[in-house]
Amino acid sequence: MDRWLTPEQLLRSVDVNQDGTIDLLEFSDFLNSLNFNLGSEDSVKQLFGSFDHSGDGLIDLAEVCSALGAIPSGLPVQDDQAPADDSAIQERKSSKFVSLVAHNDMKNVLINFVAGNKPFFAGLPLVTTGSTGRSLKKKLGIEVERLVASGPLGGDQAIGGMISEGQIAAIFFFKDPLTSHAHASDIEALTRLCDVHQIPYATNPASAEGLMMSLKAYGLDWELHRQDSAVVQSYKNQQQGVIDSYSS
Ligand code: PGA
Repeated sequence: MDRWLTPEQLLRSVDVNQDGTIDLLEFSDFLNSLNFNLGSEDSVKQLFGSFDHSGDGLIDLAEVCSALGAIPSGLPVQDDQAPADDSAIQERKSSKFVSLVAHNDMKNVLINFVAGNKPFFAGLPLVTTGSTGRSLKKKLGIEVERLVASGPLGGDQAIGGMISEGQIAAIFFFKDPLTSHAHASDIEALTRLCDVHQIPYATNPASAEGLMMSLKAYGLDWELHRQDSAVVQSYKNQQQGVIDSYSS
């Protein structure tokens, strides 16, 4: 049966010296191993450059992900080639959801971002607001495990409720900063709950890129998710005092 190679697995299989990146020599050897003959060294360098967006002479994980985004479902490998520590499978084991939301004028931006990182997002348990999730599914065929109401109809509050129950690992909410929104107070409430519960919250493509890298590196269950912040701890202590004052 076919399985799919995750970006991490692809990088590891090409990264001979295991330094976490692919250099020109490793890239060239990889092409040779596929009997992929580009004719000249310059053509190999040119192709390498098209993956190496930062131009630092190395292809890192983010650049592999971005390259794989152009390929709908990653690269097929046989079952017996899949490494035991399949990170996509580990991510699925988390009981927490990653939330995707976008305002109407930002839906295209979110869809393009997810398309560019499809192998990563396809491996996550996703919760989305109504129209965002339906648009993602329609355009990219992405599976959304939990679809709450449309944002202005209470969807943002539903995601906030999931935060209070410890079900949210991270939120990607692509906000349109140049339009006023009928449900601004709901969005504000969601933002506040992220701060209360220390939920990483990316609101534009640049911060989304950073959050995605962190999720890849640390998984969905960061240590911070399990610790109350100082202000929350202080609030809980104070409330305990209120409760204790009612002892008979
Ligand atoms: P929508 O909601 O995905 O249903 O459009 C997004 C939002 O909160 O504005």
